[in-house]
Amino acid sequence: MSYTMSILEQAVKRNPNEPEFHQAMTEILTTLQSYVDARPEYEKAGILERLVEPERVIIFRIPWVDDAGKMQVNKGYRVQFNSAIGPYKGGMRFHPSVSLSIIKFLGFEQIFKNSLTGLPIGGGKGGSDFDPKGKSDREIMAFCQSFMTELFRHIGVNTDVPAGDIGVGAREVGFMYGHYKRLVNRFEGVFTGKGLTYGGSLARKEATGYGLVYLMDEMIRQHGKSLAGQIVLVSGSGNVAIYAAEKVQQLGGKVVALSDSGGYVYDADGIDLAAVKEIKEVKRGRISEYKTYRPNAVYTGIGSPDDAGSGIWSLKCDVALPCATQNELSEEDAKVLVKNGCFAVGEGANMPSTLGATEVFLQNKVLFAPGKAANAGGVATSALEMSQNSMRTSWTFDEVDHKLRGIMVNIYNTVAAAAQEVGCEDNFVVGANIAGFKKVAEAMLWQGAI
Ligand code: NDP
Repeated sequence: MSYTMSILEQAVKRNPNEPEFHQAMTEILTTLQSYVDARPEYEKAGILERLVEPERVIIFRIPWVDDAGKMQVNKGYRVQFNSAIGPYKGGMRFHPSVSLSIIKFLGFEQIFKNSLTGLPIGGGKGGSDFDPKGKSDREIMAFCQSFMTELFRHIGVNTDVPAGDIGVGAREVGFMYGHYKRLVNRFEGVFTGKGLTYGGSLARKEATGYGLVYLMDEMIRQHGKSLAGQIVLVSGSGNVAIYAAEKVQQLGGKVVALSDSGGYVYDADGIDLAAVKEIKEVKRGRISEYKTYRPNAVYTGIGSPDDAGSGIWSLKCDVALPCATQNELSEEDAKVLVKNGCFAVGEGANMPSTLGATEVFLQNKVLFAPGKAANAGGVATSALEMSQNSMRTSWTFDEVDHKLRGIMVNIYNTVAAAAQEVGCEDNFVVGANIAGFKKVAEAMLWQGAI
């Protein structure tokens, strides 16, 4: 058995009951196999053994009191995975499904994604099984403050800089940042995704979605087509989905569907994003409410008799952008998309496609941009926020947006070149994994047994 595969087997055994982490390791190590095995210095230095083991895992209790006066307890996590090329960087996720396995898969992916941005940031991720849905603002604040009461001692501008993710937006970041500042008595850029009045960066909110579409636009153009005029499905209706849809529209594509965990809406005339923003960003409501704004739209609940089984992916499209959550797009869904003529898929979410779905896309020559390349615009702009905080300056929206676009085009070219170099032209999964790995592995080699 090769060095790479023996490390994968060992890591799966040593981390039982962590299926998402196993999935992420399998995808990455399988594609790195020939590259790593051709370089014995990596085995000698135990690069992979170290890479699959987080530098530090912090798990803690988060007690807080709800509006009924009852004590609630959630689990908190921060996985500081790899700091070879910079301070740990990665979002915080608040969702009832959060487990150590999910945070480890996200943290592992983040190492390679952050490396791909070309910026000096290491990989980390965190979160809690707390569910923000249906909670009052006071409950959210109580939870965030309790969370930060433990987390603050583990993070710092040069150590670990968290950001948002599922369930963590401007409101949650504000509460956590405010409490951090109070605890340490320092105003410093320890969190990204901050509000614009206290150190946030213009265009950070839009960055992941916009970045995804910039990369897709470049990929599609380099293959002789254009995003303009294409029919696009975007799953989810949160931060990434909304701004991906906005950029698609700006570049002339037609977004016909969005979703949430309850179901999906189809609007043949093109999604009205102003309505979606009001439902999701102002009212914190459900996508089913879209019909009250656009009566001609069709809403299909997941599991309802009208649901053909593949949810949003059963709709006909040219381009699909999964922007909700991990494993939301199965092998079956991928086959349906291919059958319906979808020619490009870009992952706005982290690991939204199962391993089987990815295989279907690659076999059918679908232009497939994996999350660690396609959604790296969020963390890249977070790094730009860190730069602005250190320089005590603020760039304009256009300045940040321009840098973001440059970074995404650069990522695409780097990934495409890495794929070509190993004889896997247009396999952007292989390209992203190798390109992301290279820099981290080299940095680890130079730094010795750390
Ligand atoms: P949000 O919380 O803003 O939105 C998440 C969206 O996905 C909601 O519409 C939500 O629906 C849906 N969703 C969440 N969980 C599930 C589920 N189990 N089944 C079906 N739908 C679900 O999160 P973001 O937009 O920030 O994040 C979306 C994805 O993008 C995640 O994978 C995240 O890791 C990734 N990402 C985010 C970045 C960022 O900058 N925010 C950066 C890079 C990647 P509902 O409201 O019903 O739960």
